[in-house]
Amino acid sequence: MTNTDLSLALRKRVLYSSIGLAIVVSAIFISVAFNLSRDLGQSLELEHSNKMLLQLTKSIKAIVSTADLNELSLNESVKTELIALLDKDVIGFEIWVNNKHFKLRNSSFYAQDEGIATAINTKQSSYDFIENEAEMLIWVYENSPLDDLSILMVTKTHALDKAISYVSNRLFITAFLTFWLTVWVALFISALISKRFEQSNDRLKYLASHDMLTGLPNRTYLYDYALSYFTPENVKKHQDLDTLFAIYIIDLDKFKDINDTMGHLVGDELLKAISRRLRNLKEKNSQVMRYGGDEFVVWCDDLNESDAISLAEDIVLLCRQPIKVSNYVFETSVSVGVAYYPASGQQLDDILKNADIAMYQAKKHRLGYQVFQQELFTRSEFRISLRGQLNAALEKRQFVLHYQPKVQLPENNIVGVEALVRWLHPKEGMLMPNMFIDIVEQSMFVHEFTRYVLLQAIMQCREWLDNGIELSIAVNISPYNLMDPELVSYLSDLLKHYQVPAELIEIELTENASMVNIDKTREVFSQLNKLGVKLSIDDFGTGMSSLAYIKHLDVDYIKIDRSFTIDVVTDSRDEAVISSLLVLCQKLNKLTIVEGVETIEQANKLASLGCTLAQGYLYSKPLSAEEITHLLSKRKAETDNKIINIKKFN
Ligand code: C2E
Ligand code: CA
Ligand code: CA
Repeated sequence: MTNTDLSLALRKRVLYSSIGLAIVVSAIFISVAFNLSRDLGQSLELEHSNKMLLQLTKSIKAIVSTADLNELSLNESVKTELIALLDKDVIGFEIWVNNKHFKLRNSSFYAQDEGIATAINTKQSSYDFIENEAEMLIWVYENSPLDDLSILMVTKTHALDKAISYVSNRLFITAFLTFWLTVWVALFISALISKRFEQSNDRLKYLASHDMLTGLPNRTYLYDYALSYFTPENVKKHQDLDTLFAIYIIDLDKFKDINDTMGHLVGDELLKAISRRLRNLKEKNSQVMRYGGDEFVVWCDDLNESDAISLAEDIVLLCRQPIKVSNYVFETSVSVGVAYYPASGQQLDDILKNADIAMYQAKKHRLGYQVFQQELFTRSEFRISLRGQLNAALEKRQFVLHYQPKVQLPENNIVGVEALVRWLHPKEGMLMPNMFIDIVEQSMFVHEFTRYVLLQAIMQCREWLDNGIELSIAVNISPYNLMDPELVSYLSDLLKHYQVPAELIEIELTENASMVNIDKTREVFSQLNKLGVKLSIDDFGTGMSSLAYIKHLDVDYIKIDRSFTIDVVTDSRDEAVISSLLVLCQKLNKLTIVEGVETIEQANKLASLGCTLAQGYLYSKPLSAEEITHLLSKRKAETDNKIINIKKFN
């Protein structure tokens, strides 16, 4: 039932109950007033009749005392005299005197009246009202034994009818007025009630369909809007005109970090600021809604594909402008997923789901925005199926480690390896970490997974030691592992159990992850430090953390991200970043490893900048343990030196 129906029903109910009440009150009022007027009329009538009877009795007595009673019946003049005394309304007049009965006026209809007969027979003075052909009559029977005289008088009433008609006229008018007044009052009240009802309904509807923080329409509104949108006309319009509507899912990047480090109030202010910006989108057919948390939805109608893309670009640029919130300036960014109707789905849920898949893609690859394509969906289906197989894969030991050498420049001697996990999937073949690491990190198996990797790495280290190869192994850990209270003791037990020197194990944690909860990172790092393992900050330069943080973390290595290496030869800015980082790390007494070295030119450039440690396909791709063993032993055989020149093998 809609609100209008409810309000209409309420109005009808108020109106009907008021009319009902008016009828009941009027009925009571009429019946009381009618009885009252009738009683009053009757008592007036009786009084009048009694007076008349008294007069007549007196006159009769006077006449009777002088007349000869025996002749009374015969004497017409006496009769006439008596009849003359009677009012014209008197329709019956009978007297009983000296056992004689004289009917001066009589009518047959009251002869049958039981009341009159009883009064006459019992000689009891009495009176009553009787009805005759819509006329009210009153009869009075008076018996005075002293004078031996009884009189019956039946007369038409006047006062009674008058009183009743007088009262009934007014009663009718009053009832009519009362009735109308009630109807009007009821109409007025019901209008008032329904107005209030509608007002409070509107308010409730607003509260249910809007987000209180930003004032934007919310998810409920979106679904309601979609219900009203997918009409046959709109569906046809999109088919005929070849236009589309686009749904944009906008998700703030690293909002959780801001919330965690700056507090929720700052987070709220940031959301408000973003919502104000989105409201200012110039596209006239767009509607902005808050979808939940740090996600917004823009619904834009009547677009062609190039408009849709330029709107996505606008959104990304608009949100990228620095925002000042509570004295902080944030350089936020957003990831936008775009899905079109009807191409990306016929139902709102499908369109939203696909926009979401596109948004994750944009976020993962830092693309700013991504338009949904079917292959993304297939990929996401695939990932969901992988998630379901994690547990079994761990049990069946389908995860294996490959090792990528880290070399020392300029001689390119291997000084250690980085363990990189691969999933040997029975159906899909070898899956690379980018296919599953984030699934693992979001699952409940993240601790078990890292322990498994640590165990494999330490066992491998032992095996190499047993073969006379002393090689340090770096293991990547996930930020979630910092929350594992058993991580340090587990590692310590492994080292003891396999008799592996702690300094041969290195833990790599990405810069982003290490900065999210700096206190927790520092606490775990200091425990690992005590254990004697080496520590690295991975992918340095990709996160948004300040350089000042490094000095607070007791780490041994800083790994400069591959993104700086790619153009180090051609882009002087990358060169500048790398050389400054090298200087900085040297000052902070930390070793630097440059990642992703693929060409001789890059290697030479890095060496010229003072880089001493590097990793990349130029030296070696990640290899299986056997390949590494083979590589190292072959080299060992060639030279007695532990340090091997990898270049000779490539
Ligand atoms: P990462 O720690 O930055 O690892 C280096 C990645 O760069 C490896 O990719 C490696 O194969 C690749 N790489 C090395 N040299 C070059 C190069 O010269 N050019 C190019 N283009 N790439 C190069 P991989 O093995 O696919 O690993 C990807 C990421 O997965 C790793 O990035 C790491 O973050 C994560 N990962 C790998 N193994 C594990 C693990 O056991 N645990 C956790 N938590 N993460 C892991
Ligand atoms: Ca790494
Ligand atoms: Ca890295």
